Amino acid sequence: MDVSTPADPIALLTWVFATLVTLRAVLRLVLLSRQVRHVQGHRPQVPTAFAQRVSLADHQRAADYSTAKAQLEGWAVLLEAAVLLGWTLMGGLDALNQGLRSWIYDPLPSPAAALAYQISLVLAMSLISAVADLPLDLLRHFGVEQRFGFNRMLLKDYALDALKATALSMILMTPVVATVLWLMGQAGAHWWLWAFALLAGFQLLMMVVVPLWIAPLFNRFWPLEDAALEARVRALTQRCGFAVRDLLVMDGSRRSAHANAYFTGVGQAKRVVFFDTLLKALTPKEVEAVLAHELGHFRHRHVTQRLALMLALSLLGLWLLGAASQWSGFYLGLGVQPNLAAPNDGLALALFSLALPSVLFLLGPWAAWWSRQQEFEADAFAASQAEPSALASALVKLHTDNAATLTPDPWVVRFQYSHPPALQRLQALDQSNPR
Ligand SMILES: [Zn+2]
Repeated sequence: MDVSTPADPIALLTWVFATLVTLRAVLRLVLLSRQVRHVQGHRPQVPTAFAQRVSLADHQRAADYSTAKAQLEGWAVLLEAAVLLGWTLMGGLDALNQGLRSWIYDPLPSPAAALAYQISLVLAMSLISAVADLPLDLLRHFGVEQRFGFNRMLLKDYALDALKATALSMILMTPVVATVLWLMGQAGAHWWLWAFALLAGFQLLMMVVVPLWIAPLFNRFWPLEDAALEARVRALTQRCGFAVRDLLVMDGSRRSAHANAYFTGVGQAKRVVFFDTLLKALTPKEVEAVLAHELGHFRHRHVTQRLALMLALSLLGLWLLGAASQWSGFYLGLGVQPNLAAPNDGLALALFSLALPSVLFLLGPWAAWWSRQQEFEADAFAASQAEPSALASALVKLHTDNAATLTPDPWVVRFQYSHPPALQRLQALDQSNPR
């Protein structure tokens, strides 16, 4: 095999891209197999720190669930890499582009046909990608999740969800994509600044729109009915100087037995949402501690920081897209023929969004580390505002109920875990409040 680096910039791009795709897939497979080996190695015995709180049966169920999930993910890694190479170097996007162009644009080239052709290319690409993901997603829900008793959906519920989500994202995406493409074509060299303003505005709008109008399309929400719990939760939010308008319960049990709680909304319209599964699993004291953890994320401005990082990355991405779309090597190097007589912006946008994850994954370990630091900070805040022992017992219960492993592989944690392993969180809680 010739491993020397090619000098031609187009061949170099192909080489770098193929290397990144392979590297990412291999890294993910190595981490998955490490996880399986580590979890199975610790399967025979509950770790000492949890010996009093977790039964052997629960511990082994978590090990088997982690293993089953990892095995399925291995297939997902291979499929995703194959689909990505199919789109790019093997000519899938090129064929789709030529087909749509000769169908929509070539017969009657006009500005309207140019826009219609480009929008349909971007939407068709994302629709086909979603369909390609479907078999594995079905296996996740009706294979692994079903086998371990987490899935609560029938096939028709799943189909209805998928149809609703697809229709909704098409309705929301079309005007945004259309405006971005229009800006790329019309707004001159600094189109990416305008596009950034548009996308940032859209993000902020979604923060208001999603909890009020979109989430209710998928779940039922009702006010927290437990008066004692409500008083406890209100006391906590007031103690933390946090204005929460609505305390809601959501029928998470409709789809899955996994438990959770979250915050949404901005300004005065903030709301706390508890999954019904969470309220069933935890005592009021534990619910309070979990909520205090979520408040910790707000107090430490983690939400704002994550939003700021995302906006900074999208500004960088748009600038890069602008530069790439002007260079024919970008298309040729990634397996696509740029159009000679039609606009290329839609093609550039589709190709760029396909290629981006293969570069962004290099940030993965750093992002995971940053997120774990934030989790520690939120835990420390929770320990100062609620009972640390209640947070500890809630963490153990949630791990057990969700069949999350207590013994992840350290390298998997380093590369991929957004939350620290349970043992580290319990140790940090013990240290933050010596008793
Ligand atoms: Zn958290």
